[in-house]
Amino acid sequence: MPEHWFTEADPFSPVNYRYAVTRVLHERRSAIQEIKVLEHSFFGRMLVLDDVVQLTERDEFLYHEMLAHVPMHSHAAPERVLVIGGGDGGTLRECLKHSPVKSATLVDIDPEVSEVSRQFFPRLAVSFADRRSALKPGDGAAFLRETREKFDVILVDAPDPVGPARTLTTPEFYRSAHAALNEGGVFAMQTESLHFHLEFIQHVQGTLRGIFPQVALYAAPLATYAGNWWTFSIAAKGDLSGEPVRPAHVPAVYYSADAHRKAFVPDAVVQSLARHYAPFPARYTPPAR
Ligand code: SAM
Repeated sequence: MPEHWFTEADPFSPVNYRYAVTRVLHERRSAIQEIKVLEHSFFGRMLVLDDVVQLTERDEFLYHEMLAHVPMHSHAAPERVLVIGGGDGGTLRECLKHSPVKSATLVDIDPEVSEVSRQFFPRLAVSFADRRSALKPGDGAAFLRETREKFDVILVDAPDPVGPARTLTTPEFYRSAHAALNEGGVFAMQTESLHFHLEFIQHVQGTLRGIFPQVALYAAPLATYAGNWWTFSIAAKGDLSGEPVRPAHVPAVYYSADAHRKAFVPDAVVQSLARHYAPFPARYTPPAR
């Protein structure tokens, strides 16, 4: 019997997933957000921030592999990597699988997320112990504004663009990411669902196109993010071929050179969806809770 039902409060989703939780393993408000760890009979442990599911033990591989390996394999020699957000360590873990990586910096606004991950998600937090890793708590936008460091790949693993994550979806933020990238540098971020968040996706893609010479969209089928057809926006200072630029030999469950190639969403599809959705509301605004 479930201990209780957890209903997700996804800020922009017209559907709310409900989970039969067997145990609440952790529940505490940090200085930034409410952090929960729930146990589920099918998904295993689940990390929840402000009542939005961030990852589950069962299927976190899919999101973290696709956020990391497509941009990392779009760079010939990604030695210096920056992950903004991603305090659970999953994206960092995937980046560290790439042999060219010499340093991997993680900047998450809430150090408690990493502490919770160490305690409840050891398969993700293992990345923190890698000698190449450096955890620097803080706002990712402020970090990029102030840093003099340069990176080959910058990944933004942030939640929905609300609350503390708002600073990670401004033109200034994308410009500072561009400035912090070396020649040939690659930027990528999760950009929500093509089913529910097309307006946001087009806004990000359009803004990135005004800053980077090459911009594209790719997707992966994520079961535990409301909207499922989950996108990632990728931008490059150099070429963006849609192919891995070096052999794709990282150990992965879903990612492969073929999955890389087949993940890209043609712009014609995005344009056709936008035409179809034009008579419908651009975004869903949930009723006050
Ligand atoms: N994969 C999830 C998704 O797609 O929604 C994101 C998971 S990760 C846990 C999200 C992290 O972003 C959280 O740990 C949160 O503290 C962090 N975060 C939110 N706003 C941030 C900001 N402005 N700068 C750095 N990290 C931020």
